[in-house]
Amino acid sequence: RVAVIRDSSGGSERTYVMVKPDGVQRGLVGEIISRFERKGFVLKGLKLWQTPEELAQNHYFELKEKPFYPKLVKYIISGPVVCMAWEGPGVVASARKLIGVTNPLQAEPGTIRGDFGIEVGRNVVHGSDSPENGEREIALWFKDSELVEWEQCITPWLRE
Ligand code: GDP
Ligand code: MG
Repeated sequence: RVAVIRDSSGGSERTYVMVKPDGVQRGLVGEIISRFERKGFVLKGLKLWQTPEELAQNHYFELKEKPFYPKLVKYIISGPVVCMAWEGPGVVASARKLIGVTNPLQAEPGTIRGDFGIEVGRNVVHGSDSPENGEREIALWFKDSELVEWEQCITPWLRE
C-alpha cells in the first residue's frame, strides 16, 4: 500500500464510519449517510457487507482485554454493516461530534447516538478516534479498488 501524504490543516483527512448491524436493521442507513453528506464531507468509499469475525476482532483489537469484547465482536458480526470512508478537513473529530459519545443515553440530542440509541452495546454507528486510526481502519475495511478518487462539484460552495 502506498502511503499518501495528507494535509491535516484542511486538505484530505479521512475517517472510517460504519453503520453497525442494529443501525442497518432499524433502517437508519439513509439518515446516517445524510448527516455526513449535509455536513459537507465527501464520500470516498461505501459498501454493505457481512463482516468476517476475524476482521471484527482486528478492528477492535485495542479492546481485546475488556470484559465486553466477546459480546462486542458478536454484535458487529450479527448482521450486515455499512462501511464508509469520509474525507474533509477535520473530519475525524467532526464525525465523532456528529456521532455523539459512546453511551447513547449520555449523547447529546442532535447527535446520531443521542437521537437513535439507548444502550452502549447497541449504539448504531462507529467513527474512528484519530486520523491515524482513520487510515488504519479504512485500509482494514476497504480494498484500494473500492475507494474512489473524485471531485465533488459542490466543493467551491463548501470551501473557500
Ligand atoms: P466508541 O469509540 O465511542 O465507539 O467507543 P469505544 O472505542 O470505547 O468502544 C467501542 C465499542 O464497544 C462501542 O461503540 C460500544 O459499541 C462497545 N462498548 C464500549 N463500552 C462498552 C461497554 O461497557 N459494554 C458494552 N456492552 N459495549 C461497550
Ligand atoms: Mg473507539
